[in-house]
Amino acid sequence: MPEAKPPTQQQKSAPQKALEKLGLRRDIDLALHLPLRYEDETRITPIAQAREGQVVQVEGIVSESHIELRGRRQLLVRLRDDSDELLLRFLNFYPSQQKSLAAGARVRVRGELRGGFWGREMVHPLCKLVQDDTPLATALTPVYPTSAALPQAYLRKAVVSALKRAPLDEILPPGSLPANLPTLREALDFLHHPSPKVSLATLEDHTHPAWQRLKAEELLAQQLSQLQSQRQRALLQAPPLRGQRAGLHEKLLAALPFQLTGAQQRVVEEIAQDLALGKPMHRLLQGDVGSGKTVVAALAAAVCMDAGWQCALMAPTEILAEQHFRKLIHWLEPLGITVAWLTGSIKGKARQKMLDAAASGQAQLVVGTHAVIEDRVEFARLGLAIIDEQHRFGVAQRLALRNKLAQQALEPHLLMMSATPIPRTLAMTYFADLEVSTIDELPPGRTPIVTKVFADAKRENVIEKIRDEVTKGAQVYWVCPLIEESETLDLQNATETHLHLAEALPGHAVGLLHGRMPPAEKAAVMAQFTANQMSVLVATTVIEVGVDVPNASLMVIEHAERFGLSQLHQLRGRVGRGAVASVCVLMYTAPLSDTGKARLKAMAETNDGFEIARRDLEIRGPGEFMGARQSGAQLLRFADLTEDIKLLEHARRLAPRLLDQHPEAASRHVARWLGSKAEFLKA
Ligand code: ADP
Ligand code: MG
Repeated sequence: MPEAKPPTQQQKSAPQKALEKLGLRRDIDLALHLPLRYEDETRITPIAQAREGQVVQVEGIVSESHIELRGRRQLLVRLRDDSDELLLRFLNFYPSQQKSLAAGARVRVRGELRGGFWGREMVHPLCKLVQDDTPLATALTPVYPTSAALPQAYLRKAVVSALKRAPLDEILPPGSLPANLPTLREALDFLHHPSPKVSLATLEDHTHPAWQRLKAEELLAQQLSQLQSQRQRALLQAPPLRGQRAGLHEKLLAALPFQLTGAQQRVVEEIAQDLALGKPMHRLLQGDVGSGKTVVAALAAAVCMDAGWQCALMAPTEILAEQHFRKLIHWLEPLGITVAWLTGSIKGKARQKMLDAAASGQAQLVVGTHAVIEDRVEFARLGLAIIDEQHRFGVAQRLALRNKLAQQALEPHLLMMSATPIPRTLAMTYFADLEVSTIDELPPGRTPIVTKVFADAKRENVIEKIRDEVTKGAQVYWVCPLIEESETLDLQNATETHLHLAEALPGHAVGLLHGRMPPAEKAAVMAQFTANQMSVLVATTVIEVGVDVPNASLMVIEHAERFGLSQLHQLRGRVGRGAVASVCVLMYTAPLSDTGKARLKAMAETNDGFEIARRDLEIRGPGEFMGARQSGAQLLRFADLTEDIKLLEHARRLAPRLLDQHPEAASRHVARWLGSKAEFLKA
């Protein structure tokens, strides 16, 4: 009852396994496993002074105890101190518990005081038999993040002994961290067992110097490891790609039906400069939806192919890959380039032919979906890999690509494109190992999209508006949300909406596009919509990325509250691509959660992808922002990128100096902090 029982041999492995599952293997991992909050067991509150709703510790003598049989069977224990008395109530209890809480026993009890049917009471309080002189805790009691298989008491003991054993010597040369912070040992001793006098607020908001120390250390470790991988990469060799042969780059420019914007010209130049160097480019091209990243990719590909190397272009969905493919063959085949096309739905002989073309080097450009290109394809001479809409930055995917190409003596260059810009603080941390080019200008002639938010009840008014628009010749997207729990419901919803709209809009073609249609059917529907043979396209989020139909000027997003902010922004970017003024209608079903409200508000207030990304980071935090669990990116546990910018900047300045002047200390510091992080994230 009071203390956790000492584990028997057989039980022992369960909490230990649970420890490992949480990534708590080394002493240092346990030492860095910080409490979520604290409980104050340093004081006894007289029963008369305890207020209802308060969690308190009281101590007294059991005056009476019995099992109540009326209603639900329960153990009732009356506890009395000098000031008043209190009822302890147990709905589940062991016979041993009943025995130890007999009249006359002195008990220290901790729990929430409530006003109950029988008067003031505590239900299932923590109880401990004590003597008159049993000492009280002198420090606050830590409450750790844990799992069901790992009892708090076990974890507390494990932390105490790990703290004793862990090598917490000062690794960093003096003066490395901001002044006036405690040593690591002091900071950790304090945070695990703070004095009851500390201001709980500074512990909770992490402004306490002990917290600052940990954050400063963590940020430094993170910067150091980024810098290390950056320097390792700089040692690798890549083919220097300089357009030399046929002036392909210039020919493509001349063949385009438009002039590049200033921003496009600038990023094309930045990329070309990188490609010309003999070390692998690792560059992110970011630009808002519709800013014209595809043509920049095509120009980079032209430089590569012109230098006699192959280029691979990968997109996340078949629809998008196919759009790229069409655009690229349209631009490049007249210039004598052979483009191969690979997705999961290309099978048999056709597939083999494409694979052969890539392996022999006959296809200079291979376009396909991420998955396909990663696993199977071999290239004769891959010089440049371009990954489109890689806003989730699958680190694993990136590695897979790199490993595959290790057979080739030279590394290929890597260009990633994303419409979800990386906020500055993230760029400084997780993506410090990435060069960034930004297209900060939209092609001319675009009119801004007006975004309106409506409750679901206004559905018929929205349909009315659609009728007006399609009568005028405009095209409309109607987006249905994915219902994660049920694919069937999801489809049903899209199908019903499709039927309803088809009925409501007689004389206009209404199409349906969803994730489980065979690729050929999807492509056919998309082709009809692109050719303006269809007025309304009802779709699940398959149109999320990249689809380009300039005549579409109205988008309705149903259950907008279910979408993430960057997803909404991506979707909205499907309209506003032509010269007509475009509208995006966000329909929601009440009640909205706070984050749901914040997202819709952000959408209504701004069209700027950078601002959207900033707010998204604010609403979700960096882990989710990056989909870190999937990507395996190293998460910061203590530092908060929205609040610790000063510490981050300090770490950024310090890291290169430390790596140059104290490489030994730098490596030890990284190992201490990031040693088992990768495992932790897999948990
Ligand atoms: P995204 O950056 O979202 O991938 P796209 O590359 O699909 O954008 O480009 C959006 C549209 O703008 C396409 O129809 C493209 O042909 C067109 N476009 C790109 N650059 C320009 C430009 N400089 N002037 C006019 N139109 C352009
Ligand atoms: Mg695109």
